[in-house]
Amino acid sequence: MKLQTAQEWMQRFDQKIQAKKDLLSELDSPIGDGDHGSNMARGMQAVLNTLKTSSYPTTAELFQAVSMQLLSKVGGASGPLYGSAFMGIMKAQQNQANTVDSLMAGLELIQKRGKAVQGEKTMVDVWIPFISDLKDQTASPEKIWAYVKATKDIPAKKGRASYLGERSIGHIDPGAYSSGLLFEALLETEKAYD
Ligand code: ADP
Ligand code: MG
Repeated sequence: MKLQTAQEWMQRFDQKIQAKKDLLSELDSPIGDGDHGSNMARGMQAVLNTLKTSSYPTTAELFQAVSMQLLSKVGGASGPLYGSAFMGIMKAQQNQANTVDSLMAGLELIQKRGKAVQGEKTMVDVWIPFISDLKDQTASPEKIWAYVKATKDIPAKKGRASYLGERSIGHIDPGAYSSGLLFEALLETEKAYD
């Protein structure tokens, strides 16, 4: 991935997170502790500050900085998970991997850390099908939001929401929603360079 693409992807992700901050926390309220929006907004603000004040010679170094900021500033369960994701993406970028393989490397570290598989009402429920669509060149915002919304109908098996068991049914997973924003930002960035 080109440095400029990575930069723009992170800028667009930040804008979406700041715009949906309240919604993300609202989603986290009935099935969690209501902090996902403020967690992500704080983390992405730190990422943007770093990107503004430092210059990174390579895409891998940029993602390393993203990973470190998210790991240290987001907190909760999602901070280490997003931090791990960008650590995987960074390592793949060091080896000049393409976007699909880089996201796969990110997903691998999310799952290594959080042990979630598909269907447990987490961010992984968006990462897995989105990467598959991107590989098949069938990714679209509509499909992303369908994956996000599908987390509503299933019980949580991982994270705080799993304490509610069946009572978590009927609520969209906040981490799935923030991952939807991440991938929507990626599609918009790629489109801008067509
Ligand atoms: P916390 O639950 O500690 O308050 P956040 O509210 O920031 O942290 O993040 C919650 C989100 O983290 C969930 O909506 C879910 O998508 C994600 N999550 C939690 N545990 C896991 C896990 N083990 N694997 C993948 N994602 C997880
Ligand atoms: Mg929370």
